[in-house]
Amino acid sequence: MNYKISQRAASLAPSLTLAIDSKAKQMKAEGLDVVGFGAGEPDFDTPQHIKDACAKALADGFTKYTPAAGIPELRQAIADKHKRENGLAYKPSQIIVSCGGKHSCYNVILATCQEGDEVIIPAPYWLSYPEMVKLAGAKPVILETSDRTEFKVTPAQLRAAITPNTRLFILNSPSNPTGSVYTPDEIKALGDVCIEKGVLIMSDEIYEHLLYDGAQHKSVASFSPAHLEHTIIVHGFAKAWSMTGWRLGWCAAPEPIAKAIDAVQSHSTSNPTSFAQKGAVAALAGPQDHLPKWLAEFAKRRTYAFNKLNAMPGLTCVNAKGAFYLFPNISGTGLKSADFCARLLEQEKVAAVPGIAFGADDYIRLSYATSMANIEKGLARIENFCKGLKR
Ligand SMILES: *Cc1c(COP(=O)(O)O)cnc(C)c1O
Repeated sequence: MNYKISQRAASLAPSLTLAIDSKAKQMKAEGLDVVGFGAGEPDFDTPQHIKDACAKALADGFTKYTPAAGIPELRQAIADKHKRENGLAYKPSQIIVSCGGKHSCYNVILATCQEGDEVIIPAPYWLSYPEMVKLAGAKPVILETSDRTEFKVTPAQLRAAITPNTRLFILNSPSNPTGSVYTPDEIKALGDVCIEKGVLIMSDEIYEHLLYDGAQHKSVASFSPAHLEHTIIVHGFAKAWSMTGWRLGWCAAPEPIAKAIDAVQSHSTSNPTSFAQKGAVAALAGPQDHLPKWLAEFAKRRTYAFNKLNAMPGLTCVNAKGAFYLFPNISGTGLKSADFCARLLEQEKVAAVPGIAFGADDYIRLSYATSMANIEKGLARIENFCKGLKR
């Protein structure tokens, strides 16, 4: 049978991260001692009170359809969070809860972009953004950055990329994959350009709470009413509450866009899981004391890895101020990222993600959401690998 694959689906790039990941899993299954730096999720458990709230909802029979955009108390709790932490006055009707921050991103793009539209995405980017833009029939426009500017785009660079077809600018600070964090002034300046040019901003703030070295997060929506009007915030429970498997995220949008997203969602997935939403209410309303502990642990690992990487022949690394990734430059080794990662896995049994997956072939992504023991062992092996290349 000659199956015809739709143009939309066929246009998607195969996931390189998954290819390395499945090879690493296969090696592990064969009993090999593989150290993984690929994790895109915290290695901590979901806090107990969140699990308890979900278990109670399940026991109470809270197992039926909810409104497609989420239960009112969760939308209210999210609106309260934005008021409390970001100084933003969203109504619950402007909040749409979806099946993960990823789903929220996709909904936003589907609800705002179509054929002929351009979406500006700074590289290195989270690998799903360009593919989602393509699924919507629009065109990703990639803005290159490098470690020389801590992977940040400048307002001038953004302005030069905007055309009459530009619909959306995707901002992700703190960033996956680089861990880079824009300062409030830098964020405001990018927002100013979008306002001037009439471009919407999709601001993915899922790593908002994971900051180091006194770095500050300020939402682009929070600088003025015009900034708020031009911004759609995407957020979720995966990272700061370690709830990746729960599949819960949200967006906060101007009312007409929220309505459109609600319509998209009501005809595709309907509501996110009912009892998971009850857990999410507890995540926002309950104690947040897990977070300082996690941050202290992440910070310790980050400093250790940062120092180690910079001492290796052929590698340089700028320090990340957020998230849980480091993004070392490997160009001094003479290898491109896919080759580097394939050989590293083969020779030293260390799994890392090639930067080319994020649009940056001179880098690799290392996640430090893994134990200190793993980090020590894995970095010693990477060092050995780099030394071997120099000989
Ligand atoms: C993890 C992540 C998300 C959301 O993940 P979900 O598991 O779908 O909630 C969104 N954006 C970025 C940049 C991420 O790293």
